[in-house]
Amino acid sequence: MQADSLPEALVELLAAARAVAVLTGSGVSAESGIPTFRDALTGHWARFDPYELATPQAFGRDPARVTEWYDQRRLACLQCRPNAGHAALTEIEGHVEGRGGRFLLVTQNVDGLHQRAGSRRIVELHGSLHDWRCSGCAASMTLADEPLSPYPPRCRACGQPVRPGVVWFGEMLPRDAFAAAESMVQQADLLLVVGTSGLVHPAAGLVDLAMDSGCACCQINLEPTPYTSCMRWCLQGAAGTILPSLVRKTWGDSSPA
Ligand SMILES: [Zn+2]
Repeated sequence: MQADSLPEALVELLAAARAVAVLTGSGVSAESGIPTFRDALTGHWARFDPYELATPQAFGRDPARVTEWYDQRRLACLQCRPNAGHAALTEIEGHVEGRGGRFLLVTQNVDGLHQRAGSRRIVELHGSLHDWRCSGCAASMTLADEPLSPYPPRCRACGQPVRPGVVWFGEMLPRDAFAAAESMVQQADLLLVVGTSGLVHPAAGLVDLAMDSGCACCQINLEPTPYTSCMRWCLQGAAGTILPSLVRKTWGDSSPA
């Protein structure tokens, strides 16, 4: 998308908003080559149902297999790089905070690419592939850029198996992360919904809450979604193209303060 075709009112709001929230989903990761949850089930894993791998029960039944799947996904993420969309979101954060505004990036992605791109104000609704913790005492484990050993690793403090720090089916979202996201979308002047259909809980609830609170919502997605008709703006295309254009049109080539 050319910067010229971006809505002026959106650019003006982004330039002036006191609080900007962003919600990202798998579309942003896909532009970096990260397979979606379902697409990660290829090769040896194709015969598994994700619902049979991504649950606490699965980990209880076969911790070695579940650990292997998540460890392979973790290592695959380390081979991918943040894209221009990730980078543009760090610039938006810098510009908004540089003028004393508030910013929060809420992501459904578990790949850690936003942090690697430099995002600082971020909550991970579904946890992270890179934050593993003990299933017994919840002690966190430091990971290297090589496969874990053994599958599953054991907690040094208590000996229980260490598990990936993602939110599994049937588990509660991290309470603090969701509360921070809810609070922010209620106060935000602008919510950018990027690379997500916005329809799956809990993202759907956040978008609804933003709209009910009078926040202007802008969708940036490759395809229309059922939310398209109720967003104030819908920009169809790749986040890695549209977000950098939006940054340039809003702030020119100046770096964040
Ligand atoms: Zn432990």
